[in-house]
Amino acid sequence: MSITKYIIVTGGVLSGLGKGIAAASIGHLLSSRLKIIPIKCDGYLNVDPGTMNPFEHGEVFVLDDGGEVDMDFGHYERFLGIACKSKWNLTMGKIFHMVREKERRGDYLGHTVQYIPHVTDIIKGHVYEIAREESADLIIVEIGGTVGDIENELFLEAMRQMKEDVGRENIVYIHLTYVPIPYGVSEQKSKPTQQSVNLLKQRGIFPDVIIGRCSEFLSKEVKLKISNFCDVSPEAVITGLDVDDIYEIPIVFEKEGIAEILHKKLNIYSPPDLRKWKKLIENIRNPKGEITVAMCGKYTRLEDSYASIIESLNHCSAHLGCKINLEWIETTDLTETKALDGIDGVIVPGGFGSRGIEGKIEIIRRAREENIPFLGLCLGLQLAVVEYARNVCHLKGANSTEFDPDTPYPVIDILPEQKNIKEKGGTMRLGAYEAILKKETIVSKLYKSNVISERHRHRYEVNPVYHKNLTDKGLVFSGTSQDGRLVEFIELPELTCFVATQAHPELKSRMENPSPLFYGFAQACLHRKVKK
Ligand code: GLN
Repeated sequence: MSITKYIIVTGGVLSGLGKGIAAASIGHLLSSRLKIIPIKCDGYLNVDPGTMNPFEHGEVFVLDDGGEVDMDFGHYERFLGIACKSKWNLTMGKIFHMVREKERRGDYLGHTVQYIPHVTDIIKGHVYEIAREESADLIIVEIGGTVGDIENELFLEAMRQMKEDVGRENIVYIHLTYVPIPYGVSEQKSKPTQQSVNLLKQRGIFPDVIIGRCSEFLSKEVKLKISNFCDVSPEAVITGLDVDDIYEIPIVFEKEGIAEILHKKLNIYSPPDLRKWKKLIENIRNPKGEITVAMCGKYTRLEDSYASIIESLNHCSAHLGCKINLEWIETTDLTETKALDGIDGVIVPGGFGSRGIEGKIEIIRRAREENIPFLGLCLGLQLAVVEYARNVCHLKGANSTEFDPDTPYPVIDILPEQKNIKEKGGTMRLGAYEAILKKETIVSKLYKSNVISERHRHRYEVNPVYHKNLTDKGLVFSGTSQDGRLVEFIELPELTCFVATQAHPELKSRMENPSPLFYGFAQACLHRKVKK
């Protein structure tokens, strides 16, 4: 077996500079010949981000195995074209849980359990175990946060120690920093980078490559300056250019020569092949058409909460050569008069809690009555069922018991097997589930298959008691679980594109392979626009 090589990505100066995208882009560039496994270390004490507010932390990304992980895994999957595992997201919450279990079991009998070596050993052990299990050629470890944050110190310490374990020639440290051009100075400034690298060096990590996030390509002068002050070669100072579209980052990095540097430093050879990628990006840059899609949600103020949906639409954009404008509709204060003028399609995304629910139901009614393409995702399916029950099946007051526990018609409900679960973390229907698609339906035509698998993250389901009421009135269950008990897809065959799913297909959409459901929806929006 070949030796696993390691790339450690840290960040400095500011948070939010795009370490995840940088790590994913590097992975993309090196993936032609190597098996690459991404690992993300997060300093928080939650076991996983599943219990956090997406408004604060961004979207919770769900994997096939049901793991609720940091949204950076979305970037890894989309850029690397792989399916990640929850074990690859290492949070301090998980680590402390492991340390405590080991201590209680008596694994440390006679010892004082300490941060170093016990916690750092667990971190390193976890990384090496993944390398072994996956027979990885290259592991890219991204350390969350910014150098100097207390909560990430133990991760940095473990990464420092790794060079001794794996050999200096098998590990590269990449530091992402910020190079500002202050107003009125009009000059790229390297001081924040120097200071950030100093913080890293104080921790015993000497970066091999520095990526400077900047609104322009870094000048030769600033690269030399950073090279001098930070002890890296000038070619190893790479621009992390501000771009309109994150998918341009691999192209920028390729231009900056990062692949050659990493080849040299790690003694690997895996030349980037960006031909297909560049063509898709070109389509996004030069769209031939344009559509406007309404996104109705509660967290509309924070686009990170819907990152995967936005990316799925970008993937459609690239394949259809069509610009997709998003119109955010905050349904909490929706007024009756706001019409869907100028809208070519409506998405009702997933969500929790009762705020904004009635507004979303109202929008679904309009989409159905006006035959506007509609895509319901998880909560979107549940509300489409509530709307249909109320307005077509005449079940007055029908609702989900999540929003009205006393509704006379609980068309959406928690199934008996979920009812006794009291804990919140990791207890939803999570991860990949198979659905059997009905022949000749919109969804089976889009998926070009009768058995498909999508990821889930929810507690409530269409209540089997009402299946007959709904289907008798024309709602088609176009995808169900094998036993027919769980409704996975619904559609209205007489409308152009009225589809919804209990799953989150946005989690599996890739730039090179867009989600069939999103693709069909975007296509329907485009047709409608052209016909008008
Ligand atoms: N709140 C709903 C449920 O738990 C929908 C969840 C979602 O949209 N992800 O079933």
